Amino acid sequence: MKIAGIKTTPLALAFKEPYHWAGRVDYAAAVVLVEVETDDGLTGIGESVAAFPAEGTVAALQGVAALFVGEPVFDIERLITGARHLGSFNHTPWSANFVLAGLEMALWDILGKAAGWPVHRLLGGAVRDFVDYFGFVQGDTTDELADDARDLAAAGYDVIYLKVGRGEAADLRNTAAVRAAIGDRRLRLDANCAWSVAEAIHMIARLGAFEPDWIEQPTPLSSIAAMRQVKETVGVPIAADQAVFTPADVYEICRQRAADVIVLSPHEAGGLLAFGKAAAIAEAAGVPVCLHGQGVSGITDCAQHHLGLRTANLTAGNQIMHQLLVEDLIAAPDLTPVRGRVGLLEKPGLGIELDRDAVRRAAELYEKDKRYHHS
Ligand SMILES: [Mg+2]
Repeated sequence: MKIAGIKTTPLALAFKEPYHWAGRVDYAAAVVLVEVETDDGLTGIGESVAAFPAEGTVAALQGVAALFVGEPVFDIERLITGARHLGSFNHTPWSANFVLAGLEMALWDILGKAAGWPVHRLLGGAVRDFVDYFGFVQGDTTDELADDARDLAAAGYDVIYLKVGRGEAADLRNTAAVRAAIGDRRLRLDANCAWSVAEAIHMIARLGAFEPDWIEQPTPLSSIAAMRQVKETVGVPIAADQAVFTPADVYEICRQRAADVIVLSPHEAGGLLAFGKAAAIAEAAGVPVCLHGQGVSGITDCAQHHLGLRTANLTAGNQIMHQLLVEDLIAAPDLTPVRGRVGLLEKPGLGIELDRDAVRRAAELYEKDKRYHHS
């Protein structure tokens, strides 16, 4: 079975409400829908994470597509590894990973459809019956955050996740209000690289009073040493997120004992296979991994769910993102957590049924204003 064609569609995914994190406020996310067709009529679906404008990601995918057409669908490792060394990808592995992960996802979808099995089974088989997800607190004001946190705790999420890095006063006020709203549920705080070493040590000392489950990526993404210094100074577990993309990054974090947890997505790692390699390195170091979420639709959340089902050293409270969108791109499967949990998927491949009307609307939104979408 050979690859016959690769279709790429840039999309804008509008958030229900402004998405606050330490870097900026987002109003929509850019992705590229990847549809791979085979010479015997199967179609695989994937999603590449992009940025506005998404034409660079589209061009990169089409450049790779020209080399993939006519190649066997089953040669995923050879094709993706080869593509990672093409042209400028060789110098920009992070960008390459975000592009290639969507393409690789679609190839796995085809393999699963051809075999009649869900993707998690092709990747080694499920080691659990469900994946646990966190309740992602949304809101602009402290009151809005506390109200949302209360609702998420009432809905049964065991892990509640809050962005910090919005300024010391706001962080302390928001964290106190959310802790009060969720009782003794696990509270996870994510600073998204907001702090220097000194600021991180200061802030974590103050935020420690609210008993965080862990503090995620307190320091700049480029310095593993900074994170290690923080970890060695504070008494709160530290998770590495933006500091980790590739399996080699995971090795380095583990070798330097710079984090207690690795937060990672297949887009960052460069595909489902690469995520598996990264998770295995962490597992060998006794470090668990947590699924990470960029601004994505249910396509990526579904692919990540297959990974979560088959990854032995997975944490509780993983990240999904489709629930933050005005509308999702998929009609099935239903990935709405029940008491924080989503169960096994049994349909062949990723098991995704696209909502074609929603895809059309997301394509129209993208074309309307390609530079829309953050402040
Ligand atoms: Mg994070």
